[in-house]
Amino acid sequence: MQLLERGLDMNLSVDIDSNSGFCNGVVRAVRKAEEYLQNNEKLYSLGAIVHNDTELERLSHLGLEVIDYEGIKELRNKTVLIRAHGEPPQTYKLAQTNSLELIDCTCPVVLKLQQRIKEIHKILSETGGTIIIFGKKGHAEVNGLVGNVNGEAIVVESVEDVESITGEFPFHIFSQTTRDPQQYQNIISAIKNNFSLSDDDSRIIVYNTICKQVSNRYDNLKQYADSHTIIIFVCGQQSSNGRVLYNYCKSINPRTYMVENYRQVDKSWFFDYDKVGICGATSTPRWQLEEVVSYINNSFNI
Ligand code: SF4
Repeated sequence: MQLLERGLDMNLSVDIDSNSGFCNGVVRAVRKAEEYLQNNEKLYSLGAIVHNDTELERLSHLGLEVIDYEGIKELRNKTVLIRAHGEPPQTYKLAQTNSLELIDCTCPVVLKLQQRIKEIHKILSETGGTIIIFGKKGHAEVNGLVGNVNGEAIVVESVEDVESITGEFPFHIFSQTTRDPQQYQNIISAIKNNFSLSDDDSRIIVYNTICKQVSNRYDNLKQYADSHTIIIFVCGQQSSNGRVLYNYCKSINPRTYMVENYRQVDKSWFFDYDKVGICGATSTPRWQLEEVVSYINNSFNI
């Protein structure tokens, strides 16, 4: 009560980062699920369609059920959505065996990356070389990429992992689409250092595979976090993209707080004349950002 009273005297300005909200891949997957559920009672999603519990709850009320790999093995004659992250070829084979109809929402950007890595793998299987993927081990997109090269790829998560890389040259290096571009650069530099490779050494070939929607986000986010006195970053705990963007935001503006929804916003974080910025990950729906704005506006009588 005391905090609320303190809040009522405050002058705050609140706005939403115009670059926040679902990326195109997630918008497309959610739209396809909603369209299907308008005429059908049930749709299965292999893995969470979006790493955001609140949005998943909304979709589950419409009839979307999230299943895992054990779950899909048991299904017969049902419809299953493949999310934007994509899947390895084994999943498509299983769907065929189990007579499952697929609504394939693999993001076109991920699909292009899968095709590219597959082509390179085909060439390397004749000429020799090593595929290295910078990404989160076990992440669906990374599993999809690894599956497309028959498991013949080394996944590195961090600069520390670089030391354990073995394999023959040339190295072909790819990144998961949602990684931090600066971290990707750090990985590439660490590999070059570790193997004494110069910048123009033909034994290392780097592919720019970070999604533009993600890489552009860093410049925008830097400006946005810099121009506000406090940032509320809204995203699900499970979102790897969310955690990366939150950490980046916090490195620019130390008064950055991560919340899953408006209920986690703490009024004691705010000070008089704060310029409040509301941001989210590529998995945060716009309506959740708007809920946070309404909550702050109502709490402080703005
Ligand atoms: S981040 Fe980019 S590549 Fe990944 S799903 Fe979204 S639009 Fe597609």
